Amino acid sequence: MWETIKTPAYVVDEKKLRENLECLHRVEEETGCHILLAQKAFSMFRVYPLIGSYLSGTTASGLYEARLGYEEMKKENHVFAPAYKTEDMKELVTICDHIIFNSFAQFEKHKEIISEYNNSQRENGNRVSIGMRVNPEFSTQEGHAIYDPCAPGSRLGVVRAKFPETLPKEIEGLHMHTLCEQDSDDLEATFNAFEKSFEPYLKKIKWLNLGGGHHITRPGYDIERLIRLIKRIKDTYHLEVYLEPGEAIALNAGYLITEVQDIVDNDLSILILDASAACHMPDVLEMPYRPPLKGGDETGKKPYTYRLSSMTCLAGDVIGDYSFDHEIHVGDRLVFEDMAIYSMVKNNTFNGIGLPDICLLHEDGAIETVKRFGYEDFKNRLS
Ligand SMILES: *Cc1c(COP(=O)(O)O)cnc(C)c1O
Repeated sequence: MWETIKTPAYVVDEKKLRENLECLHRVEEETGCHILLAQKAFSMFRVYPLIGSYLSGTTASGLYEARLGYEEMKKENHVFAPAYKTEDMKELVTICDHIIFNSFAQFEKHKEIISEYNNSQRENGNRVSIGMRVNPEFSTQEGHAIYDPCAPGSRLGVVRAKFPETLPKEIEGLHMHTLCEQDSDDLEATFNAFEKSFEPYLKKIKWLNLGGGHHITRPGYDIERLIRLIKRIKDTYHLEVYLEPGEAIALNAGYLITEVQDIVDNDLSILILDASAACHMPDVLEMPYRPPLKGGDETGKKPYTYRLSSMTCLAGDVIGDYSFDHEIHVGDRLVFEDMAIYSMVKNNTFNGIGLPDICLLHEDGAIETVKRFGYEDFKNRLS
């Protein structure tokens, strides 16, 4: 089915995306919580209407993502950033429902803009609700310190010791985001630690946002535990609960299709692909991780082993070593899996390498090219 597509191309699988959304929607239905798309992981706005038909809205890491959610999803729109510029805040108040701060100083700096906006909109019913991000100082991650907002020295979230005895009256919610690809047992443990130290505030606020990093749509994730936890929080504290997963929304719902351009021999056989780790799947080098490949196995498991690399001049632009049942030839197509998330939102044109097409595999099997990039996209980022 991938023989005719122009490579390289990201292909998002509508059916798999819908299955993820149905799973997440069930959590919303059974608990009454709100689930938002964290656009940082996946911003293919062509499918925002589909996502919006299952979920409550979007969340953003700053002005541009907030605008995208506002324009393309048009549902609840939240934003968190470590700091906001005044000119950005003036626009954010007009397009966001929740604005979450990372410090009390940022809250003090911007609270006037928000209250002025709220007063001016009283008749229209538009209103911005203010939240504060907390650092529960409870780390459940090992290995990936760059993804751990509870690691020592973290700038993300206010620690308990920096909280005033009484919250300013304008602050209506608390936010935390501490997980990465984790299950509900880690969420529960984190909430329990948070509850212990922040209980007096929990009784006062209207909403609690539990951030992202919930691998809800991964096979084997304990959804029942998540549902029990959200129900307990809602029953105990009578507040709205928000989750803002990114990965879980489009997990395993996309591919990167690439074609073998050449095969170089130097101790082992090295495939030169028209897809690049550095340009098209930067998390492979940054996280780092080994992307799943259709028909590809660990080195030596199958009879033919190759090193997969790319057309850039970066020596380290290597995706990994994979083994196959059969010999690989120039012109063959390879399919990397789980390529919807943290891929097209992070890609770049380093080395003058072009961006992959963005395609949609419809549920009837048709593949639509949603967007094609060219030389101008490379040139426009430079001067
Ligand atoms: C990255 C991020 C998310 C989404 O995280 P995933 O791991 O993709 O689920 C949600 N909220 C905040 C504040 C984030 O920084």
